[in-house]
Formats: sequence, structure tokens, C-alpha cells
Amino acid sequence: MGAGPAALCIVAELVEQGILVNALASHAPDKPWPNTYGIWAEELESLGMASLLGHRWSNTTSYFGNGIGRRGVEPVQHYFDYGLFDQEALQKSLLHRCDGLKWNLETASEIKVLGAETEVFCTSGNSYRARLVIDASGHKSKFISRPNHGPVAQQAAYGVVGRFSSSPVEKGQFVLMDFRPDHLTELEITEPPTFLYAMDFGNDVYFVEETSLACSPPIPWETLKKRLHKRLGHRGVEIQEVMHEEKCLFPMNLPLPDRNQPLLAFGGSASMVHPASGYMVGALLRRAPTLAKHLAMDMSFKPDLTSSELATRGWQVLWTPELVQRHRLYQFGLRRLMSFDESRLRKFFATFFRLPREDWSGFLANTLPLPRLIIVMLKLFYISPWKVRIGMIFGGKIF
Ligand SMILES: Cc1cc2nc3c(=O)[nH]c(=O)nc-3n(C[C@H](O)[C@H](O)[C@H](O)COP(=O)(O)OP(=O)(O)OC[C@H]3O[C@@H](n4cnc5c(N)ncnc54)[C@H](O)[C@@H]3O)c2cc1C
Repeated sequence: MGAGPAALCIVAELVEQGILVNALASHAPDKPWPNTYGIWAEELESLGMASLLGHRWSNTTSYFGNGIGRRGVEPVQHYFDYGLFDQEALQKSLLHRCDGLKWNLETASEIKVLGAETEVFCTSGNSYRARLVIDASGHKSKFISRPNHGPVAQQAAYGVVGRFSSSPVEKGQFVLMDFRPDHLTELEITEPPTFLYAMDFGNDVYFVEETSLACSPPIPWETLKKRLHKRLGHRGVEIQEVMHEEKCLFPMNLPLPDRNQPLLAFGGSASMVHPASGYMVGALLRRAPTLAKHLAMDMSFKPDLTSSELATRGWQVLWTPELVQRHRLYQFGLRRLMSFDESRLRKFFATFFRLPREDWSGFLANTLPLPRLIIVMLKLFYISPWKVRIGMIFGGKIF
């Protein structure tokens, strides 16, 4: 169920495993996706898919005002390529691997687990049966049950692709996080922090996006828009032409789904968004092959497994104990970050990017094995200034 990046990734792998797939989604699988997806180039290179990048930057930078004072301007160079997917190329390459599979244009409204099969009822009145149903209908799925741990923090962003009176970032530059707060008043600086995510698309076109990493309740788009205009105005930059507006909102710390429910999920519905960074597409591409392989083996060699037994086995592969532990650590880290005020947060990130590159990039991509992740977090604690250390232990509400 679904036709977003998660559905296409898992369907492509299942088809390659020889599984008979019946796909259904509310829209055609080749309809352009509404979001732009970014990723560190090395993550794609390790999958042999770097040709799917539509843009690639080597000049990758962040600004944390040195983590000290409000006016520091020293940039932090990441020396690590970042890219944006060529959406059309990614979609086409995944669909090509689906081998001409036709999607049923349907919206699922109810799902019943019958025993050996599961039945999906659609708003059209049609219904479909399968040995296993995989819900890849995104983070708003109503079919997947998960514990209620209270309000969920959302990443919110308001962005503009357009032309500007002067360059909002340097020519050829990608800015991961510009946290410089020198345009904010004393009152604004006490509000939940936001940063600029920005890049040069070439031909005098830039993308600038005011982003709130995670906040509950989420920061409204109107507030982010005002902040973006104020930030640009402070640097003497005006928006001259809006070619595209992006309004982004998605959950960062959605609790992990119940892993013994009779329905399997993949992607946003399976809480696969990285809770500390908001990235997911790299994880989809990495984790889909293993899941598909295990499901194919179970379906071929264990014909007696019921629908819910198959789903449970799928959950065990998708969320191994190691990945669950890593997810918990990331969620803990995010809770701490959300409690930090603006200056502590800048100090934190200024320190984080002082870690060796393979440490911070592995942390952000979720590719570090658990023991290494723990060591990296301890290392981060060790090199952090006292104010950040205290925040890491007690949360940012102290001192
Ligand atoms: C604006 C934005 C920017 C993002 N940027 C990045 C980024 O740069 N890098 C990154 O890695 N991640 C990013 N993310 C996070 C994450 O990767 C995306 O949210 C991603 O789109 C989630 O993929 P998905 O396939 O799980 O769900 P979706 O993309 O939401 O797709 C869900 C699919 O299910 C279908 N569907 C929904 N309900 C039903 C139903 N009842 N019946 C049938 N079909 C249904 C929909 O039509 C759709 O096809 C971003 C998210 C947003 C919102």
C-alpha cells in the first residue's frame, strides 16, 4: 500500500525476489513526489546509486556562530559531499525494477486479518487479499498501531525556490544549518530555535528553507516564513521571484510500532525516519533488500505461516534488537536537543561537527553499529563544553 519512496523501494525488492505483488495507492506511482529529498552523497555511493543525484555540492557548510556569542561568523566546513535526488530518476529507476507492475489506484479504508490471508477494503468498494500486507502509506497511517508516548515532535520547515536580489548563500554552496541568530531580538531568541537550510541550484536560482529540527507543538509555517524573511532581510537579501514553495511537516520521534501486530509496515508508517536528523531515504534503500529477502524465504519455504506470523517475522527483520536500541538512543538525544535553548543548541552542533567525519556522518545516516554509536556519543560528551554536558545529562531546563 502506497506509492511514495518507501513503497517503491520495497516493491522493487519484492518483485526482484520473485514475489507476486499487488500494489495499491491513492495516486499513480509515476506521479511526481511532492518533496525534495536530500542525502549525503557517500550514502548513495555505498549503494552504487550516486548517478541518481540531480544536484551535488562539495562546498558544504554550516554556521553556528562559533557556538560562542551571537555574532561569530566562522563557517564550519564539512568536507563531505551532499546531494539532492533527481526525483524523476529515482522514481523511474525504482519503477523500472518493479518490472511493469500495475498499481491499483485505490485508497485503503479498512484491513481485516483473516488467518492465512489479509483483506484490504478500499473506498471504491473493491477489496484485495494477500498473504501479507505491507503498509507503506506514510507516517499518518491509521492501520499501524503504536504506543502513545504523548505529543510527537514534528520537523517543520518553510522554504522557497526562487531568485533573489543577491545570493542568499555563496555561489556553489550548500548550507546544512545556518544557526546564526544575529537577526533575532532578545525576545525572539528565547523562542524555539530554527535554522536556515539552503543551496545554490545554479543559474541564479537558490533554495532557502527556515527549519525547525523538532518541536511539539510544531512551529507554524507562518512563523517560519516570517523568520526566513527576517533572516534574509538582515543580510540585505530580498526574494524577487518565488518559483516553488515547500511546506514541510513530518514526525521525528513517532514511537516504534508494535512489533507483533498482524500488519507489516515500511517507511514513514514503520517509524523509519531518523529521529535525530529527519532523513529516511538512505535507510529505505539499505533496509528494503534484507526485508524482501527474508519475506521471500518465509513465503517460499514456510507455506503454513499465517498472515500475522509473516508480519511478525517481518517486524523482527525490520526492527532488529540492535536497531531498536539505536533508535532509543537517537530518541533520547532528540529529547535532550529539544530541551536546549538557542545558545546551548549552537554549542552542541559546533561540537558535534568537530567529531571525526566518519563519526558524525555515520551518526546521521544511522550506519554505526551499536557499540560504536555509544562510543561516539561518549566521545561527543567528552569533547563538549560543560554547558552542553550538563544539558546532555539533566536536559536543558537546568542552568
Ligand atoms: C517536505 C519533506 C521533506 C523531506 N525531506 C527529506 C529529505 O530530504 N531526505 C530524507 O531522507 N527524508 C526526507 N523527508 C522524510 C521522509 O523521507 C518523507 O516523509 C517520505 O516521503 C516518507 O516516505 P513514505 O513512502 O513512507 O511516505 P509518503 O511519501 O508519505 O507516501 C505515502 C504513499 O501512500 C499513499 N497512501 C496514503 N494513504 C493511503 C491509503 N489509505 N491507501 C492507499 N494509499 C495511500 C500516498 O498516496 C503515497 O503514495 C521529508 C519529508 C517531507 C514531508
